[in-house]
Amino acid sequence: MMNAQECLIKMDSLLEMTKAAFEAFVQNTEAAIRVERPQVLSIDEDNIETEKLQMDVALLAAAPVAVVPANSDFFPLQENGHRFLLASDGIYLEARRPWLHFIQRLAAITGVRVPYGSLTTKVEFPFGRLGNALTQLQEFAQHAKAAAPIEAAGSVIWNSSTDAWRIEYPEVIGEASSTHIEFKQVTLQDNEHLVIDLHSHGNGPAYFSGQDDLDDAGSVKISGVYGNLDQAEPTAEFRICVLGMTIPLNVPASKIFGEE
Ligand SMILES: [Zn+2]
Repeated sequence: MMNAQECLIKMDSLLEMTKAAFEAFVQNTEAAIRVERPQVLSIDEDNIETEKLQMDVALLAAAPVAVVPANSDFFPLQENGHRFLLASDGIYLEARRPWLHFIQRLAAITGVRVPYGSLTTKVEFPFGRLGNALTQLQEFAQHAKAAAPIEAAGSVIWNSSTDAWRIEYPEVIGEASSTHIEFKQVTLQDNEHLVIDLHSHGNGPAYFSGQDDLDDAGSVKISGVYGNLDQAEPTAEFRICVLGMTIPLNVPASKIFGEE
């Protein structure tokens, strides 16, 4: 039998042993992880400035970089957000929203052999075809015609849980003119997403102006512009905007402005 004093000493040495074992375990694990971990951030881990590293880690988390595997199956981005992908033939941008899965090449790599996998580009709409919002696109045609020659704006919203579409006219800030309109963002309910951002150029032609490029630069959305609204056959242009990258989308103006 041990007395209480002996028992305490025994406990202390046991604790010391456990602590030492744990410290050794942590050190070995850290070393192992450091050897195994791909170095995404190119920094000297022995000379870290903590605050700067925290900022770089946060930036990397917001816009990660991933390598496309040459052997395993490519696993697409699951959460909303975007990332950069390094594939055998270039650098790609991948973005996901509840209404969108987007993979497009940002820059080609030629000449240098990059030992990674390849990708299939895509612009995938979980809501189906853009034509599913035709009612709203047609409604905006009437709205924009009534406002012409003054510019008009409309927000076409998709509900990802009910698959329903609606259009809302955002509140205009100041006074709209034939070349300029500024408006407040519409308020979205749960599961609602602003998918198509519409504006008109009144009686001027439909095209994406330098100002439109600036307005669309940071967003992920479909952008549509209507024009020649005083003509028998008005014009319309659509494009998908993903963080500064744009791709034209084919939506025939006749479908929007044609007689039903
Ligand atoms: Zn415009």
